[in-house]
Order: sequence, then structure tokens, then C-alpha cells
Amino acid sequence: MSNKTLRNFINGTFVDHSGQSCFDNRNPIDNSLISRVAEASAADVDSAVAAARAGLLGPWGKMSVDERAGLLHRVADGVIARFDEFLAAECADTGKPYSLARHIDIPRGAANFKIFADLVKNVATESFQMGTPDGAGAINYAIRKPRGVIGVISPWNLPLLLMTWKVGPALACGNTVIVKPSEETPTTANLLAEVMNEAGIPDGVYNVLNGFGPNSAGEFLTRHHGVDAVTFTGETRTGAAIMKAGADRVRPVSFELGGKNPAIVFADCDLEKAIEGTMRSVFANCGQVCLGTERVFVERQIFDIFVERLRAGAEALRPGVPNDPDANMGPLISLEHRDKVLSYYEKAKALGAIVVTGGGVPDMPKALREGAWVEPTIWTGLADDSIIMREEIFGPCCHISPFDDENEVVRRANDTEYGLACSIWTENTSRAHRVAGKMDVGLVWVNSWFLRDLRTPFGGSKMSGIGREGGVHSLEFYTELTNICVKL
Ligand code: NAD
Repeated sequence: MSNKTLRNFINGTFVDHSGQSCFDNRNPIDNSLISRVAEASAADVDSAVAAARAGLLGPWGKMSVDERAGLLHRVADGVIARFDEFLAAECADTGKPYSLARHIDIPRGAANFKIFADLVKNVATESFQMGTPDGAGAINYAIRKPRGVIGVISPWNLPLLLMTWKVGPALACGNTVIVKPSEETPTTANLLAEVMNEAGIPDGVYNVLNGFGPNSAGEFLTRHHGVDAVTFTGETRTGAAIMKAGADRVRPVSFELGGKNPAIVFADCDLEKAIEGTMRSVFANCGQVCLGTERVFVERQIFDIFVERLRAGAEALRPGVPNDPDANMGPLISLEHRDKVLSYYEKAKALGAIVVTGGGVPDMPKALREGAWVEPTIWTGLADDSIIMREEIFGPCCHISPFDDENEVVRRANDTEYGLACSIWTENTSRAHRVAGKMDVGLVWVNSWFLRDLRTPFGGSKMSGIGREGGVHSLEFYTELTNICVKL
């Protein structure tokens, strides 16, 4: 039983939590207690907002871009210097394999500070000369200013990476932030607070509030009149609630939301690559990736072989604890989330799906039986309008359907309320380009998945999001452009 308590971090200090209500942070591999977490009150949110507003006017607001960028490099270096601590914390909170977090979560979490620090130093703004009736003319030029206090609400599936994906550019642009990490995965945001102090980030620039969404820190923060913009990654219906919370003050939002992403596999694909990529896009992180594939469409000539190969791949996955070098699959994030995923497994059966593999809970060793383990699962045989094909499940599962021609598959793949990502597998480049352009999504991968250049736009269309982050696109959200027109 752990007696560690994670505290809220306001104005450069971990605040006293005596008298505060606390909640449990549990490890999904066995449901053991990792820590207790102090839940931020409405008064804590007020304090954090006041600190963040004051932070804008303090040394942070007076720094040159170079000085700010230099500090953010120190933050990135500070994360790397404590790599093993971040790795252990992230894997305890999420249950994900070390092999995954070592290559993705922690290094990319650190890189997010460097890439945006370097970017802001090199981005130009626009300038236009114009004629005037008196012939003297005028010049216009735009300057970028920080938006102010940014509320950052982040999810549990890639906790450090997705949080710093927002905190990195927000700070690089000169804003201050108040982070509300997921109640499921609060530890790395807390560790990052220590790194911020070690790196010399001024007080009030980075604040962390722990708690839940409705009637807790999340809602208090997103309703707060002292917050100038909210950036959020999470479920679509949470995004809708956050939008309503900020509507009275027409506060800008940037949303990275849910998906029901298709993979389209043409018969002329490189089958090895398509299987390898689809294995990752369906099962990586136990299927808890927003970009993950839940609907696979396979051209009929290769449907049977594809289903068979994916089944064999799924059955070869080894669930296990994060530091087991032979394990390549962790549990789901919580028992509550497992209930949700298992309810879809039951619905699929009830609807008459063919369960190609999985559909239940794996037989784990006794010490892990209280964990949130679930079997990788593949179905075929359901109609496109079934609930399994409509709703985001966010587990290690997919449905595979055959298709016969290109126009048909484009129509079917686009027939969803979501519009985040799509993978296309074909060796015909003209077809890849043609089909990619027809997909109603923010991100298309051809013969790959989750291959990310952080300078490129990232985000979703339809119910998968509002806005794009990444590269210069992040600057559009984290800065306010002012045009200055000088009459000569
Ligand atoms: P979630 O929406 O349940 O929670 C996300 C965060 O919002 C948490 O910190 C939570 O406490 C907070 N929250 C919940 N209700 C709130 C409210 N009313 N007001 C303010 N804050 C509130 O999402 P999750 O379950 O943590 O994450 C999984 C979801 O995130 C999936 O739908 C997934 O597709 C999506 N996701 C999207 C992307 C993307 O880039 N598009 C990336 C990762 C995850």
C-alpha cells in the first residue's frame, strides 16, 4: 500500500494538501494503489489562474524568444536526465510496456519542448505594402503575441506525450499554462513540475491541477473567466461539454477528439507491410490510440488471407507487465474502461459477428487477475451501420469487411461521424494519392501508420476535432496575430 500523495502545483510550489479530498491512482496491471492524489478545489483553480496571470507579467513575459527557447531546451534535457523515473511513472500509471514508452512516450514528450522552441525562433510573420490615394502608401506587418493563460486538459492514453504536445508550443509562444492531467494518469505531469523548477522556469508559468472532469478541476478550469483559451485532447462528448463551458466568453478551443478510423487494404498492397502496419494500428497501446484502426476494409481477393494473417498476429501477442521483455501488450487503462470494452465485445456477439479471435478476458497469472486485461479481438460479418462500426471502442479490436471497388470503399470508409485518420495500403501510388484526397479525415497514411513529422498539421475533421496543431499550425492557436498598418 503506497503512502505517497501527489499534490497540486501552483506558482512554482507543491501546495499543502491537508484537509483536501484525495482520490486513488491505481496501477491497471493489478489494481494496486500507486499513490493518493489531492483533488484541486475551486479555490485551487482560482489560485492557479491568478498565478498564471501573474506569470504572464513576471520575468517570463519579459524574456526574449531566445531566452525562453533556451529554458525549454533545459526542460527537455531535464526530462531526459530523469528518463528512468518518467518511464517508470508512465508505465505504472498506464500499464503499457516499457518497450513502447521508452521509444515513444518519454522521448517524444521531451522532444515536444525542443521542436516548438526552435520553431518560434524561425517563423516569420507576413508583411504587405499597399498603395494609398495620396501616393505615399502604407505598410502592414503582423506581430504574434501570446494568447495568455492556456487551460490544457489531457487524456490518459499517452499522458506525457499528449500533454507536452500542448504545453511545449504554448510555452514557446510565451503563454502560461494550467494543466489538468487525466485522473487516471497524474504522475508524469507532477514529475514535470519538478523538472520545470530545476530548469528555472519562473513561478506561475506551469501549474498542475489534479482532479476529474464534471464538477471538479476540469470543469472549474474550463469555466474559469481567467482562462484565455482551452486546448483539449479526449473524448468527443467531453469536447462538447468544454465548448459549452467556454461559449459565453467565445473562448478559443483546440480539440483533438475521438476517432473510428478506417484502414483500406487493396489487393495490390505489400501484404507483409499491410499486416505489420495493421497489427500496430489495431493493437498498439492495447488499442488505446486515437489514431488506431477499428474498421478494416480489405479488397475481396485477399480478404481470407488477410483475416487469417491478422488472426495469427493477434494470437501471438503476449500480454504482460511493463518490464517483461517478452510481453508486447499491456492492460487497458482501468477496470471501468475494460467494462466498456467488454460491453462492445458482448454487443458484437449479440449482433451475430463472427469472432475470429478473442472476445473475452485472458487467463492471467494469479497476481495479475485484478488487472484490466482484455483479449485482442477481431470480428467479421457485421453490417456497416452496426454499433461496432459506428462507435469508438478504444480497445484492442477491429472489424474486417471485404470490398470490391475503389469508389465503394471510399464511400463506406467515409460513412462515419468521425474524421481523424485513415491508412491506405497499396503499391499503386496514383491510386493512393487519389483515394487519400477523397478521405474526410485530417490525417492519411499511405503504407504506414503513426509516422509523424512534428512540423506537419495534426488534427481531425467532423466530430474528431477543431483546429490543427503541429509545426506552425500550433502557433495559430497559441498566439494572437495583430496586424499593424503604418501609413507612410
Ligand atoms: P476523456 O474525455 O474522458 O478525458 C480527457 C480529459 O478531460 C481528462 O483529463 C478528464 O478529466 C477531462 N474531463 C472530462 N470531463 C470534463 C469536463 N466536463 N470538463 C473538463 N474536463 C473534463 O478522454 P479519455 O478517456 O481520457 O481519453 C480517451 C479519448 O481521447 C478517446 O476518445 C480518444 O480517441 C481521445 N484521444 C484523441 C486524440 C487525438 O489526437 N484526436 C489523442 C488521444 C486521445
